[in-house]
Amino acid sequence: MRREVIRMRAMVLTAPGRPLELQTVPDPTAGAGQVRLHVRACGVCRTDLHIRDGELPHPKLPLIMGHQIVGIVDQVGDGARFAPGDRVGVPWLGWTDGTCRYCTLGRENLCDHARYTGYDLDGGFAEYCVADARYCFPIPEAYPDLQAAPLLCAGLIGYRAYRMTGDAVRLGLYGFGAAAHLITQVAVAQGRQVYAFTSPGDTARQAYARSLGAAWAGGSDVAPPERLDAAIIFAPVGALVPAALRALAKGGVVVAAGIHMSDIPAFPYAILWEERQLRSVANLTRQDGADFLALAPRIPVHSDVTTYPLAAANQALDDLKAGRFDGAAVVVI
Ligand SMILES: [Zn+2]
Ligand SMILES: [Zn+2]
Repeated sequence: MRREVIRMRAMVLTAPGRPLELQTVPDPTAGAGQVRLHVRACGVCRTDLHIRDGELPHPKLPLIMGHQIVGIVDQVGDGARFAPGDRVGVPWLGWTDGTCRYCTLGRENLCDHARYTGYDLDGGFAEYCVADARYCFPIPEAYPDLQAAPLLCAGLIGYRAYRMTGDAVRLGLYGFGAAAHLITQVAVAQGRQVYAFTSPGDTARQAYARSLGAAWAGGSDVAPPERLDAAIIFAPVGALVPAALRALAKGGVVVAAGIHMSDIPAFPYAILWEERQLRSVANLTRQDGADFLALAPRIPVHSDVTTYPLAAANQALDDLKAGRFDGAAVVVI
């Protein structure tokens, strides 16, 4: 039995546009259907940056961000699955109503009343968090805590975007961060050719992409040597949409995978013509999570991580914004 902690350390967003503050706040308690986790690690996502910087409307305030949580169950509410000592992951999708027209049609990622971890609900940049057990995943044994954390958003939502590219052979990835470094490994293992696009001139990141199996890597201002069957845009840069459309072969698809993007500049219809498609991907379903977490250890997908102590979560966000690390950032509790 752990001691009865009354207060825990957490990094708290008090207002958008302000740095997170290290505070001591009351321990959360598991309610019915919930588990409480002693947090081990929590991945840092670009969405966290958008929330902190005020680019997404109406976060819960004050808010504990973080939605790629790996922790150990230490308290189980009435009726909740899992047992004390289980290692589980908490993703972005934290709760759905189960009754709206999207939920009833198997599209809970679009639920009208969804609550998102680290946005509507307190997340994992803290010593403890609570979560609805129905939306948590068992963590595959093969993954240490640090390597598991980035799978829970960069992996899951990256994989959902990847599945939207169908049977594309030549796959472009615009923005080579946490999601792209995981999805490249999946795509290469499945026999696809990955074309990695980075900020112009970022030859170090291009070399990193090649080291993970990308067939080609270059700046986003450069046309790839072959036309692409599909492209996923992970970077929050609207100007990449026409760039990716211009790189597509006939019938190809561009998938925008981020929750926020700068405005898309006007572009000529000719680059959409010939049955090219442009679409976004929003959130995840629990099935996406189950599918990806079953697939990842079989490939096996490896997470490259840079770690930060809890109190340095702002530094992790700033380094993400500046592109200072390859792979994913993880806050270690
Ligand atoms: Zn719903
Ligand atoms: Zn995320």
